[in-house]
Amino acid sequence: MKLIFLGTGTSYGVPYVGCDCAVCRSDDPRDKRLRASVLVESGTTRLLVDTTPDLRAQLLRADVASLSAILWTHSHNDHIIGLDDIRPLSDRCGYIPGYGDADTLAHLNRVFDYIFLPGREHGGFPRATAHLVAPRQHFSVGDIAVTAIPIRHGRRDIFAYRFQSGGSVLVYATDCSHIPDASWELMRAADVLVLDALRHREHPAHFSVAQALEAVERLQPRHTFFTHIAHDLAHEATNAALPPSVALAYDTLSVEL
Ligand SMILES: [Zn+2]
Ligand SMILES: [Zn+2]
Ligand SMILES: [Zn+2]
Repeated sequence: MKLIFLGTGTSYGVPYVGCDCAVCRSDDPRDKRLRASVLVESGTTRLLVDTTPDLRAQLLRADVASLSAILWTHSHNDHIIGLDDIRPLSDRCGYIPGYGDADTLAHLNRVFDYIFLPGREHGGFPRATAHLVAPRQHFSVGDIAVTAIPIRHGRRDIFAYRFQSGGSVLVYATDCSHIPDASWELMRAADVLVLDALRHREHPAHFSVAQALEAVERLQPRHTFFTHIAHDLAHEATNAALPPSVALAYDTLSVEL
């Protein structure tokens, strides 16, 4: 399996528009963060997690010409609103299967009612099919086995995802402020864990760096990458203070599992 970070920023992206803080003005390319999204690839399957406002730029930068499926974590705007940008992929490949929980699919259907209409065989429309996923449900796309893991994001219940292919396990948990008791086991001992770590200060809907490190201690993954990062965290300085198996992710980072 291969993990590619399309974006590692919080909902504002980094730099924030109009901000002149040191991170927003940094020359380090790893301090430039599009909104949070990843590709998960095997030899034959390519999954996109979330459709951010930056999706077009992300697909171009990663040279994506086809997708096997889209998985949504939740319906916040920074995770869905770029869905219209799948249009050229639909033109090439037809309907793209999309997976999410009931709230997310209902919201997507309101915002993008024209995308989920069946029977459009001609190009010119973004086209997706909606596949409802229940909490803790297992399903497969191609040769990647997926499990939807309930996590808490402020007052919302959203999905983290566990991906397994060829003996490797990846867990992707963006936008997380609490891990329910029943979900720890599903997230444990991954080869790679991707976890929300917004900033050092606590936030009602996101793990701080310290809270994320506590979760890592309990989950015991082999490697951890933090994502959904605000402008409070400079890449280089923050990384230098993290344990050896933990790092901030950055846009375009690619990890082989
Ligand atoms: Zn978010
Ligand atoms: Zn800033
Ligand atoms: Zn969110």
